[in-house]
Amino acid sequence: MSAGQATGKVSKLHENRRRKVGNVLDLIIRGGDVVTPHGVQKGDVAIQGETIAAVTAPDALAADLANRTIDASGKIVMPGGIDPHVHLHHPWIKPDGTTLTTAGPEQVGRAALFGGTTTFIDFAYWRENATALQAIEARDKDFVGKSPCDWAYHIMLHSEPPPAFSGQLVEAIQAGFPTLKIFTTNILPKRTGRMIDFGDIWEAFQALAKGGGLGVIHAEDNDIVMHMYARLIREGRVGFEHLAEAHNTLSEDLSFRRIIRLAESVPGTALYMMHVSAATGVAAIAEARAKRLPIYGETLHQYMLYTAEDYKRPNGQMYHTYPSLKSKEDQKALWDGTLAGNIHCVATDELCCTLRDKTVGNRIDDTTGGNSGVEPRLGVMYTEMVTRRGYSLSRYVDLVSSNAAKIMGLYPRKGALAAGSDADVTILDPTRRGKVRAEDLHETDYTPWEGHDIYAWPVVTILRGKVMVEGGNYFGAPSDGKYLKRKIPAMILDGPAL
Ligand SMILES: [Zn+2]
Repeated sequence: MSAGQATGKVSKLHENRRRKVGNVLDLIIRGGDVVTPHGVQKGDVAIQGETIAAVTAPDALAADLANRTIDASGKIVMPGGIDPHVHLHHPWIKPDGTTLTTAGPEQVGRAALFGGTTTFIDFAYWRENATALQAIEARDKDFVGKSPCDWAYHIMLHSEPPPAFSGQLVEAIQAGFPTLKIFTTNILPKRTGRMIDFGDIWEAFQALAKGGGLGVIHAEDNDIVMHMYARLIREGRVGFEHLAEAHNTLSEDLSFRRIIRLAESVPGTALYMMHVSAATGVAAIAEARAKRLPIYGETLHQYMLYTAEDYKRPNGQMYHTYPSLKSKEDQKALWDGTLAGNIHCVATDELCCTLRDKTVGNRIDDTTGGNSGVEPRLGVMYTEMVTRRGYSLSRYVDLVSSNAAKIMGLYPRKGALAAGSDADVTILDPTRRGKVRAEDLHETDYTPWEGHDIYAWPVVTILRGKVMVEGGNYFGAPSDGKYLKRKIPAMILDGPAL
């Protein structure tokens, strides 16, 4: 739709409704650099109720059309951030055997909104003796009425899937739960319950292909990882600074290629490779896509900006997320992957806890995974992508929002500033300067991004038409978020789209 058409539509709507109800629009965001699906344009975003009514040329809409106007001149207006990989209210066994439960959606959602992210995708654990839909209902207890952000779940398969799981999986996909998390490793030597054997994965892929689902994969080669754990323990090299030797690049190479080959054998299987950390992983994705396979890549901002050398810094566990940080060369391959179209999303693998809990383990086999990063993600990636590497605003928005919406079946409801989309809008101030400081954030008592340069920061965050954050004040409520049912579009499943 052109700006002129959009304006015409709104004017007509205006004429029809104004006589009855007064102002026709709830909000106009004026004069910003608007990141639309067709590029960046100076313009206005008109919001009515929970959706975007139009994106127009500047001042195409009379001021008295709206109940409220926000002046965005000199600012960047973008779709709300989407984090497709978070673990909220998630159990983690600490070295002393007690369970740490990570911060839930109320705390993390509030931080996310302060940081310009409006939607996240977590996980529902499909345990033995439960159906897929029971797994979703059980997880709802942690989210419904507790999440100020919109959210969805990937269904997470466990080691012993129920015998009837593949039929249930097809039903779940068709009921709006189309992504299945699969682990090819138990990650840590003492842990069981994650790794799925390849026979079950093969069966899961057949169900995904049949139902139109997407596999979201934590791939590591369990044999290599466990072999390295045994060897490092034997050699007495158990400090967490050795994590990159256990969760190594060979493991990523072998495991990515093995699971992609399995997917290739079941036509119609599409995969989203989570937290790609190594050049070998990027290469495996690139080769699969060159064969026209529907394989997508996610990395974490941790992996793009820290290396295994950072483990040696004070509280070096802060930078760790499983699999592990790698080398400068791996980092470069991840960045190159964002330009070549092999890395599509930058997620957090959010696992929000205190610094004390993040650093309570200090061995290769007990270091707390995940990280706290959902709030500074948009700001940090703006600095690194737009300011330091010259990425266009469109590419930046693709990597922190739109691509996740497209791959995960939320587009164009989410991830787009366009007529008819949900009015999830983040306004960035590109004149903001400073450093990331944990005390300025709303997440927890530490940030792995402490001292990182700021070149833009969200100043307004809107979720489905409701201003959630403005001028440093929070207006959200834990009941504001909604569950998002999804359907993966054929374009994503049929071949290497994006
Ligand atoms: Zn994760």
